[in-house]
Amino acid sequence: MTAKTMDELVSLCKRRGFVYQSNELYGGLQGLYDYGPLGVELKNNLKRAWWSAMVYDRDDIEGLDASVLTSPAVLQYSGHEDAFTDPLIDCRACNSRWRADHVEKSRCPSCNSKDLTEPRPFNLMFKTNIGPVDDGKSFAYLRPETAQQIFTNFKNVLDSTSRSLPFGIAQIGKAFRNEVTPRNFIFRTREFEQMELEFFVEPGTDEKWHDFWVQNRLKWWTSQGI
Ligand SMILES: [Zn+2]
Repeated sequence: MTAKTMDELVSLCKRRGFVYQSNELYGGLQGLYDYGPLGVELKNNLKRAWWSAMVYDRDDIEGLDASVLTSPAVLQYSGHEDAFTDPLIDCRACNSRWRADHVEKSRCPSCNSKDLTEPRPFNLMFKTNIGPVDDGKSFAYLRPETAQQIFTNFKNVLDSTSRSLPFGIAQIGKAFRNEVTPRNFIFRTREFEQMELEFFVEPGTDEKWHDFWVQNRLKWWTSQGI
């Protein structure tokens, strides 16, 4: 039986034990989902297949499992603190992104197009206290993506594995975004899992490697039946 609408798909997933609305017993929490008996098996199968293809079957990729709680300094230097807290406007013509107060006369500062999105608040990072005192100074972010801890561990991995370029670091783990409007079932959620590879290459070979990985990953996802 094929679900024809999103509502049908959601109720099918619940009936069969794939995905439940999280905290439903107490009214539910928007943008959060629980994976049931079949859902967790499907998800684990996919993660195992991805890890095998990326880490075990290649000799140029190492694995990593970094902490979710992230120092504000990491996300300050990555630019996330700024980029995730201002109202932002996207230019649909050249795909550039601007702080709303930097856009004058509704025109893109880069290409002058008027095809702009509405300003959207990008306050996407969840905060939590570190330690017993809630004084607003001692806190961590729940990482908004898994990539940053790959970058901050680059030298550790390099030193402990005697790697040289090109090589990659792969990680599977949870990430969190305080989406203003979570929607479309599990397609935009506030807590989700990422399977992520950062591949480090010599300057000048990036286009070649990018093409390689686009083809490689497309082929892999197709082989998973998608
Ligand atoms: Zn533009």
